[in-house]
Amino acid sequence: MNPNIKVVKRHGASLTDKLYLPAIYDGVKVTFKHLFENVTDINAVDTLEYPEEQPTDITNRYRGLHRLTHRADDSIACVACFLCATACPSSCIFIEATEREDGHDEKMPQSFFIDTLECVFCGYCVEACPCDAIRMDTGIFSLIGNNREDFVMDREQLLSHKGAFGEEVSRART
Ligand code: SF4
Ligand code: SF4
Repeated sequence: MNPNIKVVKRHGASLTDKLYLPAIYDGVKVTFKHLFENVTDINAVDTLEYPEEQPTDITNRYRGLHRLTHRADDSIACVACFLCATACPSSCIFIEATEREDGHDEKMPQSFFIDTLECVFCGYCVEACPCDAIRMDTGIFSLIGNNREDFVMDREQLLSHKGAFGEEVSRART
């Protein structure tokens, strides 16, 4: 035999493996171990009585509902460059640009919509933005509505969302 060939022992060849019963027993043992632990100590169960009980361990890397940020002088940070909409894999960002009159830049969004029913919360829009104008740090992770329109966030809604982790103002230049 060629000395460079390494023969690997085939798994599942023994009688114990072929019976399957020991493996099934091991699996059921783990299931019943957790069942017993959960029944005897309810605090060990990692579930919340949501929405009455809200999670308290959300980190600032969590991707929640979007917001559009303001600069330190309260002007809108977005310059309507469309990079977020271009990067969006769900094509769920819709922007209409208009001329800017506050002397900061050339453009700003006249309308800015995000269809959260299409959004996959990937965060690519946040990464693509050169102005730190869009963030997903609102800490809002559930949205309730009666029709599809309730889930389409417009510019004013996005601007009204607050940052949940204390970083309110855009890091973009003023
Ligand atoms: S999080 Fe992803 S899918 Fe949602 S709007 Fe941003 S880029 Fe699009
Ligand atoms: S949010 Fe950012 S990436 Fe999107 S249009 Fe505004 S400035 Fe450009």
